[in-house]
Amino acid sequence: MSAPANIAIVGGGPAGAFAASLLAGAGRNVTLFDERMAWEKPCGGGLTAKALDRYPFLRDNLQPKKIVRRVEMSLLGGPRVHFDLRDPVYVYSRHTLNQMLLDRASAAGARLVQERITSIEPNWKLRGTHETYAADFLVIASGARTPFSGFGLPQSQADTSMTLGYFVPGARDTMDLEFQPGLEGYLWIFPRDTHASVGICGTLLREPSSKMKERLHDYMRRHQLQTESARFYSHRLPALRRESLHNLRAAGENWAAAGDAAGLVDPITGEGLFYALRSAELLADAIKGNRVAEYPRALRNEFGRDLEFGARIAPRFFHGNFLGASVLARMIQFTARSATYSALIQDLFAGSQGYLGLKRRLYKNLGRTLGEIAASFFRTTSR
Ligand SMILES: Cc1cc2nc3c(=O)[nH]c(=O)nc-3n(C[C@H](O)[C@H](O)[C@H](O)COP(=O)(O)OP(=O)(O)OC[C@H]3O[C@@H](n4cnc5c(N)ncnc54)[C@H](O)[C@@H]3O)c2cc1C
Repeated sequence: MSAPANIAIVGGGPAGAFAASLLAGAGRNVTLFDERMAWEKPCGGGLTAKALDRYPFLRDNLQPKKIVRRVEMSLLGGPRVHFDLRDPVYVYSRHTLNQMLLDRASAAGARLVQERITSIEPNWKLRGTHETYAADFLVIASGARTPFSGFGLPQSQADTSMTLGYFVPGARDTMDLEFQPGLEGYLWIFPRDTHASVGICGTLLREPSSKMKERLHDYMRRHQLQTESARFYSHRLPALRRESLHNLRAAGENWAAAGDAAGLVDPITGEGLFYALRSAELLADAIKGNRVAEYPRALRNEFGRDLEFGARIAPRFFHGNFLGASVLARMIQFTARSATYSALIQDLFAGSQGYLGLKRRLYKNLGRTLGEIAASFFRTTSR
C-alpha cells in the first residue's frame, strides 16, 4: 500500500489532536475535523504518572492545572483511608487540555476545520454540515459518542458505562473516591484549578441513571457540594467486556480508530486519556511506517491484554469477597494498615502496576501484608 496523501481525522479530542500533531509534524497532509474544537468535555481530567512520564509536555507547561497529592478513599458504610500520592495526579480542565493539544497540531501544520461530520461515504467522502471533503485515509477519533458504527467501538450497552456529574465552582485540594455496595463503578471529586469535577460512573445494566443520580446527590450532600451553582453533565464511557476487547477491530482498509472511539479505556478506573494519547502515537507510527495493518497488534501488545484482564476481574473487584469481607473493604483496610499493600496502591494510581501482574504481586506479598496488618492492630490496641 502506498503512503496516504491526505489524512482526515474525525475528532479533535486528545486522540485526534495528538495524532494530528505527530502526523503533520512528520510532513503528512492532515485535516482534523471537530464539531466544537476545544470544549469542556465531561471528564475528571486526571492524568496519571504513566501519562505524564511518557508525555512530559503535559507536566511542564504554564497552563492552569491542579497538582493533586492527597487522596481519600472510602466504602460507603465501611472503612475509609487517606494517603499522600508518591506521584501526584495532574488534573486539567478539558477545555485547557484539548486546546493545548489542538494548538500543537496546528503548530505542526495540521489544518483544523470546525465541522460536524455527518456521514462517511464510499472512498472516504466525508459529508459535513457545511461541505463535503475527500481523503485517502481516515482516522476515527470521535470519542465514546462516535456516530460511526462499524469502526472500532462496539455500540452495545453491555460495553458502555454511564457517567453523571457536575462541575462545581470552588477550590479544594483532596481527591475523593467513594465506592458503594452494589455499584459497579465509583463516585469521585477531582479538584481542578477553579472548580471540581464531581461525578459517578456505573454500568446501566445494573441500575438506571435515575438511581445513579440519587447516589450522586446524596454523595454531594454529604460533601457539602451544592448543585445550584454547578453545571450538570452526563456522558458515555466505554467499558468493554473482555470478549469485546479481544475481538476489537481497530483498523481496516484505509482507516483506523484511536482513543475512546476504539474502546480503549481502563474497565475498572475509567482512565482513558493515557490510552487516547498512546493509541494516537502508535497509530501515527504505523501510518508513518506504512504498516497500518500492524497497528491493532501494537495496541494489543502494549496494553490490550492488560485491559482484557482488567475487564475480566472488574466484577470481582466491585462485588467480590476476600477473607470474609468485600474486596473493596479489604482494599481500603489493607491500604490503611500495610506499607507493602499501600505501595501497590501507589503503583496502581501511578499506572505503573498493570492488572496482569497484580494477582502474582498480591499473593507474593500476602504474608508480609497480613503480618503488617496484625502488627498495626497490636500498635493500635497497645496505645
Ligand atoms: C465523566 C468522565 C470522567 C472521566 N475522567 C477521566 C480522568 O479523570 N482521567 C482519564 O484519563 N480519563 C477520564 N475519562 C475518559 C476520557 O475522558 C476519555 O478517555 C478521553 O476523552 C478520550 O479522548 P478521545 O480523544 O478518544 O475522545 P474525546 O475526548 O471524546 O474527543 C472526541 C472528539 O470528537 C468530536 N466529535 C465527535 N463526533 C464528531 C463528528 N461527527 N464530527 C466532528 N467531530 C466529532 C467531539 O467534539 C470531541 O471533541 C473520563 C470520562 C468521562 C465520561
